[in-house]
Amino acid sequence: MSFEIEAKDLLGRIGRLYTKSGALETPTIFPVVDPKKQELKLSIINKYFKNIITNSYFIYSIFKEPIDVKKFLGWSGIVMTDSGAYQLMRYGVVDIEPDEILRYQSEIGSDIGVMLDLPMDSEESYFSASIKVEETLRRALRAAEMRGELGGMLLVGPIQGGIYGDLLARSARRMSALPFDIYAVGSPTTLLEEYRFDEILDMILRVKLNIRREAPLHLFGAGHPLILPFAVAAGVDLFDSASYVLYARDDRIMLRDRTVRLDEVRADYLPCSTKLCDKPVKEIREMPKMERTELIAEHNLAMLREEILEIKQRIYEGTLWEYLEEKARAHRSLYNTLRIMRKYLKLVEEYDPVTHPEPSGLLFFGDTSASRPEPYRHRLRIRHYYRHPDKPVAVLLKVDFRPYNKSWEYIYLNKILGKFREYIHVYFIDDIFGIVPEEVAEVYPLSQHESWGASEALYDDVAFISKKYKLIIIYNYYINGRNIVNVNNIDEIINILNAIYSTATPPS
Ligand SMILES: [Zn+2]
Repeated sequence: MSFEIEAKDLLGRIGRLYTKSGALETPTIFPVVDPKKQELKLSIINKYFKNIITNSYFIYSIFKEPIDVKKFLGWSGIVMTDSGAYQLMRYGVVDIEPDEILRYQSEIGSDIGVMLDLPMDSEESYFSASIKVEETLRRALRAAEMRGELGGMLLVGPIQGGIYGDLLARSARRMSALPFDIYAVGSPTTLLEEYRFDEILDMILRVKLNIRREAPLHLFGAGHPLILPFAVAAGVDLFDSASYVLYARDDRIMLRDRTVRLDEVRADYLPCSTKLCDKPVKEIREMPKMERTELIAEHNLAMLREEILEIKQRIYEGTLWEYLEEKARAHRSLYNTLRIMRKYLKLVEEYDPVTHPEPSGLLFFGDTSASRPEPYRHRLRIRHYYRHPDKPVAVLLKVDFRPYNKSWEYIYLNKILGKFREYIHVYFIDDIFGIVPEEVAEVYPLSQHESWGASEALYDDVAFISKKYKLIIIYNYYINGRNIVNVNNIDEIINILNAIYSTATPPS
């Protein structure tokens, strides 16, 4: 096994990936290093990331024969290489065979190599996309056969299909059956450029639905602090990106939730404390272009590192969802990603650990929180696993105090129920979790959450249990139904029970 998982939250995880040059902790980003034009020195990159990616096809086109890639770049950390597929997409020709470029990557000493796939963009027709998927799968079969000859280089299998969900799912299933060390979601570059984050997330989750869950997943070309936490929450472990330097060339400065252009900054200083930002904005603008690009590229890289560290901390805390909700407000497309998560709730629930490492107190639920896994998981239990007691009457209490079983209403009800106690089962009505059986009212997080807005599914829950009980009495909440009585006073519950069961015959 080349990948171990240490901590999880949602589909996100902290892991260790073992390469022949040592382990690296995920999630992480491989900054793209361009052997032909590299503005930011590798010694500076090394301060932020211990792993880089470069294009083996570029190196091949310079040397035509194997060289030592680490010596050539002056890098002692982990090196991943790409195969030139991107050049293929942009320029249409790559004058090297798939087998050859794969072997070449291992010969130059790459730690992680990518097979030559056929990427596609968001404009690709279905017909053309399906041909590319088939050809990529054919090559994947061949690459998997060569795995033993690659000198311990980890092998990446890109999953193609792009925006066509069925192609993507088929491709993911078939790739997952092959022994790749890492899978990758192919070519969402155009989607990224257009900020179509919701579509990217949909692609990632569809891939996750169809691959081995313990396998690490790479997302090509995503390197903005905005998208990173969403992609990690959807199950991405590895990223590569040239954005830190591409943005810098245009004087674009990454911040945690947006990008600003240097010429649009009105304040005297940037809202950041990296080396770049010690200088007044005016001074940065007047720097020679080369020097400025280098400084902004370094700042951008520092922001990416900070984002990765924040995400890791969130995973350890079990508060990744809270973080997504916070970030989602930065862009419309990000807000929609929370809805996409909801589409895949069953998958999210399967991955999300039932107990987080350290439940850090209250869970917070807002207007997008219906997509969280916890209420879904609770509802599954209520529907399928929980044994609703075989009693004739259910009493549903809507109370404010938590834990619910410490509310005065519940305590008082227990005091006055007397002989009726054995005929009734009590549930609490919760805005987020729906109905909560009395005996689990203190189980985390049923009582340990804050919420606003009501659960849409409560009515379904009540309809569900109304088939199991002869009578349902609801206190302090109004729901209509054939065998439902709504009351606003606890004593009324006793009156109703008295009226029905006044005869000596016990209810059955
Ligand atoms: Zn800065």
